[in-house]
Amino acid sequence: MAKKSESSLEKKLTLKTESYWNDADKKAVKATFDFSDDYKEFLKVNKTEREVVDAFVAQAAKAGFKDINKVKKLKTGDKVYMVNRNKTMCMAVIGKKPLTDGYRLVASHVDSPRIDLKQKPLYEDSDIELAIFKTHYYGGIKKYQWVNIPLAIHGVVVTSTGKTVKINIGEGEDDPAFVISDLLPHLAHKAQGDRKIFDGIRGEELRILAGHMPLKTEKEAKEKLKLNILKILNDKYGITEEDLVSAELEAVPAMNPRDIGLDRSMIGAYGQDDRACAYTSFRAIMDVKSPEYTSIAYFFDKEEIGSVGATGAQSNYLELSFIMLMERLTPGFKYSTLKMAISNGYCLSGDVDVAMQPNFKEVHEAQNSARMGHGIVICKYGGARGKGGANDASAEFTGQVRNLFNKNNVPWQYAQLGKVDEGGGGTVARFIAENSIDTIDCGPALIGMHSPFEIASKADIYNTYKAYSAFFTEKEL
Ligand code: MN
Ligand code: MN
Repeated sequence: MAKKSESSLEKKLTLKTESYWNDADKKAVKATFDFSDDYKEFLKVNKTEREVVDAFVAQAAKAGFKDINKVKKLKTGDKVYMVNRNKTMCMAVIGKKPLTDGYRLVASHVDSPRIDLKQKPLYEDSDIELAIFKTHYYGGIKKYQWVNIPLAIHGVVVTSTGKTVKINIGEGEDDPAFVISDLLPHLAHKAQGDRKIFDGIRGEELRILAGHMPLKTEKEAKEKLKLNILKILNDKYGITEEDLVSAELEAVPAMNPRDIGLDRSMIGAYGQDDRACAYTSFRAIMDVKSPEYTSIAYFFDKEEIGSVGATGAQSNYLELSFIMLMERLTPGFKYSTLKMAISNGYCLSGDVDVAMQPNFKEVHEAQNSARMGHGIVICKYGGARGKGGANDASAEFTGQVRNLFNKNNVPWQYAQLGKVDEGGGGTVARFIAENSIDTIDCGPALIGMHSPFEIASKADIYNTYKAYSAFFTEKEL
């Protein structure tokens, strides 16, 4: 008897830390796997911020979301979207309560670390007779991870006539792929052996093989290899070398998402930071019918380089989005009313956290770290050192979110990014919170974040979707 009462006391007083898989019945496992299949299909074809926005716009439009610029008035149940410069998108489903009473916002980002081509990328190395693309990496990568893997080039080129040409080379089975080649081990001891790991491959060494066949028809040409590449690009896309100056060409892994593990419990894919949150919040808002409070899903660009620029979370496009909504809900509103409305909302900053992996456990503090399959991670603060640069969510809002997940049987875990003083990181959370919005980071934990092949648990992807759905649909927090 004594033992039983002790364990029930334990149950009552201690934080539950069980894997989702332990509780999941056959039906739940099937739902989890089915959702993950859709997610993998999405990741397979949407590898850049522009592609994600295009895909979301197409699907949202099909489901009845209207371009806000084509809508004059909004009422409960209406669905709209707005797009900022093809790279940032906002979707909203108008709630029963006025926007001034609050709203539920899930904010994620759709850019991922990658290798961008420079604006003057192409050169010919006449010594070794290779045509090469120079690159400039985007976001925080471990550069040595990006060599010797097949890459595809996605993006846009703006021509001299102002036309935007879409490029996508390397994804089709018959497409050529690209590669950044590393030095063979036989000759690497002196050249690379004494370098530190982050320096193993340097920024200027991230050079992509573009080809090595000369354009023989141009006898007078000085650089026949380079010219051949330009001719191929011109034949196929009608572009010139000068057009590449006004281009955004992103080299991304040319690898398809895969199930990982014999039990198929995990997903390996490029770009899960942060398409794990973008996709799950997109699916969640697509399900929303007539919510109590307006549901908003925001998909930002530029998070990986500090949420900067006209399409980053620091841009005032966020405020502009609210102005666009308010104008159609309560025309003639005061500026102070707008600011009050913005500050009355709740935001889940949807971004990925880190899951403990078998190597380098020492960077984590196990008690406050995420485990694969334990559900969506709640993270009160990120930042570095003494919480520097963190969005430190209030205890009150953290409590509301925890209770929301518990009430809706959403598996969740509490974690933060590594040991104190080990490193750190940030999300869009602080930039959202600067508008005086209660904001907290909530998303799945990954293994191998920012690598070309990131790993997530299917359990965590599915439960992130469940969590965002509950956040949108729960009447009161
Ligand atoms: Mn992220
Ligand atoms: Mn990231």
